[in-house]
Amino acid sequence: MERTLVILKPSAIARELVGAVIERFQRRGLIIQGLKMIQLDDAILKEHYAHLVDKPFFPSIARSMKATPVIVMALAGLDAVNVVRAMTGATNGRNATPGTIRGDFCVSNQQNIVHASDSVENANIELKRFFSDNELFDYQTANFRTIYADDEV
Ligand code: ADP
Repeated sequence: MERTLVILKPSAIARELVGAVIERFQRRGLIIQGLKMIQLDDAILKEHYAHLVDKPFFPSIARSMKATPVIVMALAGLDAVNVVRAMTGATNGRNATPGTIRGDFCVSNQQNIVHASDSVENANIELKRFFSDNELFDYQTANFRTIYADDEV
């Protein structure tokens, strides 16, 4: 099973959307294999958003990501990276398709509720960034056999 990293950003925490967002992932059939609340700092944000550090809006991203603690989650499933990324929607909430998390819960480019890994390679790097091995749990939910067909898993 593939794993991906999701961060419920301060925009989700402040707007009390934690339950609503997590429920979507569970209802879809993704399995929570890790979950915790942490406070982000500049060091980890510079690493996590290394591709944006030189952008003029990076200080604003860093400020918004430190505004409250965040919740980091490891979600597992077949093709979990693509499944979760599709559920997340376009970066700018105003462009995100209704039905996606961003398309249903936000209208901002920056305050866009969730982060989701964009490739399997990045998911592995990001999971290591936020979780130690003993914080990730490989187990099967009771209804696992009804989430996938036998020949899929
Ligand atoms: P995504 O989160 O969809 O993978 P990026 O990796 O490009 O998108 O950007 C990371 C985060 O930085 C975005 O989710 C958003 O919160 C913020 N961001 C990206 N571009 C902008 C921008 N032009 N202005 C403000 N914030 C931005």
